[in-house]
Formats: sequence, C-alpha cells, structure tokens
Amino acid sequence: MLNGEPWSLPSGDAATILAVKPNWSQDTICQHLGEDYRWGSVVPPIYQTSLFVFDTVDALQKRIMDNDYSLPDSQYVYTRDGNPTTSITEQKIAALEGTEKCRLVGSGMAAISAAILACTQAGGHVIATNASYMPTKSLLETFLSRFGIETSFVDGRDLDAVKAAVKPNTTLIYMESPGTFMFHIQDIRAIVQIAQEIGLSTVIDNSYCSPIFQQPAKFGVDYVVHSATKYLGGHSDIIAGAICGSSERMARLIPAEGMLLGAVIDPFAAWLMMRSIRTLPLRMERHEQSATKIATWLQRHPMVEEVFYPGLPTHEKYDLHRSQATGASGLLSFRPTFADDRDAVCRFAESLRLFQIGISWGGHESLVAPIIAKETGDRWIVRLSVGLEGVDDLIEDLDSSLGTKKAPPASGGELPA
Ligand SMILES: *Cc1c(COP(=O)(O)O)cnc(C)c1O
Repeated sequence: MLNGEPWSLPSGDAATILAVKPNWSQDTICQHLGEDYRWGSVVPPIYQTSLFVFDTVDALQKRIMDNDYSLPDSQYVYTRDGNPTTSITEQKIAALEGTEKCRLVGSGMAAISAAILACTQAGGHVIATNASYMPTKSLLETFLSRFGIETSFVDGRDLDAVKAAVKPNTTLIYMESPGTFMFHIQDIRAIVQIAQEIGLSTVIDNSYCSPIFQQPAKFGVDYVVHSATKYLGGHSDIIAGAICGSSERMARLIPAEGMLLGAVIDPFAAWLMMRSIRTLPLRMERHEQSATKIATWLQRHPMVEEVFYPGLPTHEKYDLHRSQATGASGLLSFRPTFADDRDAVCRFAESLRLFQIGISWGGHESLVAPIIAKETGDRWIVRLSVGLEGVDDLIEDLDSSLGTKKAPPASGGELPA
C-alpha cells in the first residue's frame, strides 16, 4: 500500500468546486466548474496515466462490481473508463450544453458514430439531413448499411420531407444545424416534436455553433455531439469529440459504444481542451464579429454572387436560426462570380496570404477551402474559416486576391506577390 487514502476527488472539500451551479454564467463555468484546487494549484494536473491503483483487493472488486458511471467523483480504475483530467473538461462541456453528462472521445467522428450506434439496431432506419458532414453521410450510407441499417437523406429544412421519410422501423432523426457548406438550418424544436410524438431518438452535430451559441438539449435533443477538434479545441492542435446527453442515456452509451469501441481521448488532449475552453466565449464572440464584418463586406463586393452565413439577415432562415441559437460562428462561404472557372477559383485561393488553404475550421488561424459537391449545386463555393487575426487585415487579404483571380499575362508574367 503506497498511499494511505484511496484516490478520489474530495467532494465537499472547500477547495474543490464540483457541483453544477445553476446560476453560473457560461463564462464562469469555463473558468471554475469541476476544477481541482488541491495544493492551491490554479491549473489542474494532467493525469497522464493508463490505470489507477487500489489499496486492497476488496476496494478494487467493490469499485468494479458497483460500477456507477454516473458518479464523476468515484475512484478511477482505468483511463478507457475515466480519468480525472478528462472528467473536469467533460463536466464543463456538460454544463455549457445544459446536459447532465458529457463523454469526451478521440475524434468528432468517434462521437458521431457512438451516438448514432446508440440509437440504431440491425433492421432499423435512420433519417438524416442531406446537409450532414460528408464522413457522417458515408458512415450511414456505406458503413452502417453493412449491418442492415438503412438511411434516408432528406432536405432537413423541409419538415414535410422529414415526416414523409418516417417508416415503421425508423429509430433516429439525425440533424446538423447549421450545415457547414451552405449553412442550411433545421427547425430543431419542430424536428424534436416529430421524433418525440412517435418515440424516435434525436442526435445533432452542434460543432458549428459550439455550446456558446446553441444548446440543443434545451429543445429535447437526446444526444448533442461535437467535433471538439473545431471550436472546443480552438487552436488546431487536437483531434477530439464530445457526446452530451442525460445521465440515463449516457449510462447506456458509456459502457457500450464508449467502452467497447474504445475511441478514448488522451488525457493530454482533454487538458488542452480544458485550457481552450477558458477562452471559448471570448473566441466565439470574436469569430462572430469578424465573420459578420467579412460576410457583409463580401455581399457588397462586385466579384461576389452570393454569401452564405447564418449571421446575415439575408440568410434564408435567419429568423429561425435566431430563434434557436444566439449567434453564428466564424465559418461562412460565398459563391464568387467566377464560380464556374476552376482556374480562377484556384488562383484566388492560392494568392491569399493570411487565409491558408486547409480543410478544417474553428482554430485561431484563418483558412480557405474551395469546395465543389452535390450540396453546393455542383458549382464552386469558397468556404472561409475566419480566425482571430485582425479583421481589417483579413479583408485586405480578400480584397487583393479577389483582384488577382484573372488569368496571368500570357508572356510568362508572375502573379503579384
Ligand atoms: C470536422 C467535423 C466533424 C468530424 O470531426 P473530427 O474531429 O475530424 O472527427 C464532424 N462534424 C463536422 C460538422 C465537422 O466539421
């Protein structure tokens, strides 16, 4: 026996804040909820450990027998099952989403696949918005079909289409609002109502808004999932996912999809996310401010045909989005007037300086991604992830590149630097 006391978070200790304080603002939750202030350390340690030891065989057996995943402060056993560093970050995200529990996993796709699997079975049927993230669509269309689960993709903006897709074997309606190419908005309340009337589960990918701007569990969504690689991570240095839901739902998901599929988050990644979450409300506010300024500026630019951004009053579902979310984030797209000229689109993207060409989003740095897909009407759009640089510098960058998209002079001319 090395340690006199079995290791556990000392509940009731004046130096440890564990309980969810219902009156705390999101800003305060980000700083203090779930923190472990033992030794007066203002930053919690990284418990970079795979297992936790016990003083007696009895203690180990008891912990394994009474495995109660709903207790955040019970003795930890093994990091695939839980870890004190990870659990601080999980408690913060659960409180921000307004759910009882959150489980962090190794990627956004791990969160999405776990939540979908928790709501499906062989012979079942899923309804999903056709604005879903592409790998999510592949999971449903080509992977889960191997296990006898079929999916109908519908225009999630159209409630009649959602209703008409219901079959006797439907078990799940999957949402993503806003989508991340064309920013289609679904009516979350109405879709939850359709689902609840006939006893279907609901899952939503809330990566775009983050819990700062949208908390879908308030409307009754059963599982809220995140690519925490995006805003929750915020600094383009981790791959991670989060699943949020009620204690009852999560008590079923964690021992099954959580423990058995094994897509565990590393404690260091969870610690980096905890650090990022401290500035999440500030970052979201700045991403929104800058993206709104850029979207408004693009709308007036002669080389721009159309701007897609849920924060613009001209967005087709602006009022609906405002009724279910408090903001729009830093991701937007636009259709340039040269959208049918691939070379011009490439020259535009390649001559940007601050916006670098890359396919992720949600980090501190601005990114540009030209996209052509069925969802974009088989015409090019340019997607921008507006980062935390000075917005006027970003606008200047866009302005000078919109002027250089013309073909370079025939006689060996160079693109302007
Ligand atoms: C990136 C992304 C995902 C997948 O997240 P990973 O962390 O890369 O697995 C899921 N949904 C949306 C909307 C995304 O943009």
